[in-house]
Amino acid sequence: MKKYEFWFVVGSQSLYGPEVLETVAKRAEEMAAELSGALPFPLIYKLTAKSNSEISQIIKEANYSDGCAGIITWCHTFSPSKMWIDGLAFLQKPWCHLATQYNQHIPNNEIDMDFMNLNQAAHGDREHGFIGARLRSRRKVIAGYWRDERVHKRLGDWMRAAVGAAVSRQMRVMRFGDNMREVAVTEGDKVEAQIKLGWQVNTWAVGDLVREMSAVTGAEIDALMAEYTEKYDLATEKLDAVRYQAREEIAIKKMLDAEGCMAFSNTFQDLYGMEQLPGLAAQHLMAQGYGYGGEGDWKTAALTAVMKAMGENGSGASGFMEDYTYHLEEGREYSLGAHMLEVCPSLAAGKPRIETHPLGIGMNEKDPARLVFEGKAGKALVASLIDMGGRLRLVVQDIECVKPIMPMPNLPVARIMWRAMPDLTTGLECWITAGGAHHTVLSYDVTAEQLRDWARIMDIEFVHIGKDSSPEKLEEELRIKDLVWKLR
Ligand code: MN
Repeated sequence: MKKYEFWFVVGSQSLYGPEVLETVAKRAEEMAAELSGALPFPLIYKLTAKSNSEISQIIKEANYSDGCAGIITWCHTFSPSKMWIDGLAFLQKPWCHLATQYNQHIPNNEIDMDFMNLNQAAHGDREHGFIGARLRSRRKVIAGYWRDERVHKRLGDWMRAAVGAAVSRQMRVMRFGDNMREVAVTEGDKVEAQIKLGWQVNTWAVGDLVREMSAVTGAEIDALMAEYTEKYDLATEKLDAVRYQAREEIAIKKMLDAEGCMAFSNTFQDLYGMEQLPGLAAQHLMAQGYGYGGEGDWKTAALTAVMKAMGENGSGASGFMEDYTYHLEEGREYSLGAHMLEVCPSLAAGKPRIETHPLGIGMNEKDPARLVFEGKAGKALVASLIDMGGRLRLVVQDIECVKPIMPMPNLPVARIMWRAMPDLTTGLECWITAGGAHHTVLSYDVTAEQLRDWARIMDIEFVHIGKDSSPEKLEEELRIKDLVWKLR
């Protein structure tokens, strides 16, 4: 994970005289240092902004810096916003306006006009807010006392979304084979995706992978087998099938790393020269932070990698998922999610088992090895990126995962069970109304607010289905959004 930092730019003006400006700078430095300790990425104090040229210069530097993942601004005093126009108009980095105040309380005895002149965030931040609105800037606004834990949490979440944007801008996706024949929702405009999201999506021949696989040595496979058996319970005697998955994983990883790709897709319809669909191989690659999408789904592959990077330690509990089947018993309605093989073990409740089973779909000469487990219980979400023609739409639904209500002993794949918000059928009506795909990224640690932030930064449409959603309200929202996006 690349090291990112954020820059703290504090608004002021020369009117106040050197003494006030010195105090502002000292406090801003103190705040950045203290916040750095509470946030997932360092916040570097850069400037007490007093002029157009200073602001333009720091924003040029932010745009140019690979390490700067975003800027956080705040106005300790009043900072006339015309001097921010030139800088903000060409800002290319994510922007968060932190509306805060150095002091938590109004000091009853101490307060006088000097105090008022120094501590003017209440109107300084409003002037700053106006120019953001006037410029139609896609910014995040977070208000609250800067030492408050809730503010830390929201700032930290926004930082992760901004890092998700930085990762997105560098995303390369390796495709083995095309999309599954005739499937619509996994298609999309790769040129549009690169313009908006920065994703470089290109294809490599399955034959290249097969050649790379044949070059993998027994010693390399032994080493990966040792890792598999340390992390997972070996629950099959077909060691050759497991070793074959290790061979696939090593070859795929070599090709991904050689091309700087953080995500890949393949399809069971194009495994020419391979004995097994990569199952365990794809799962263990996802556990290392690589994105994956089945059936040629490059959009979900890249989104998986971006959301993993946004999560804890840059490889959070997010993985490729597919809605499979429902339990429609009244009062106990659940979705069962899984995939043919490729469910990420970062979603597992316990230690996954390596099993081998026949796969009745596609070309598979041998029974592919895969990890089988139950997903964790807890709050989560599913996210689906679809191409609406002319724009991308990110559909996000809140879900509550549960321990599967039955053991399903004959199901040979990893499984996750959840209750969609607001409830299964209303949530389903909303999802279908919005056009969300059967493929999603399921995440336990990226929030809907973070994905909204990410979508805003990337300038794509965002649709959220939560506890208050209804198909009627959503239909109206989508009609308005259709119009808005056509006007752009
Ligand atoms: Mn699928």
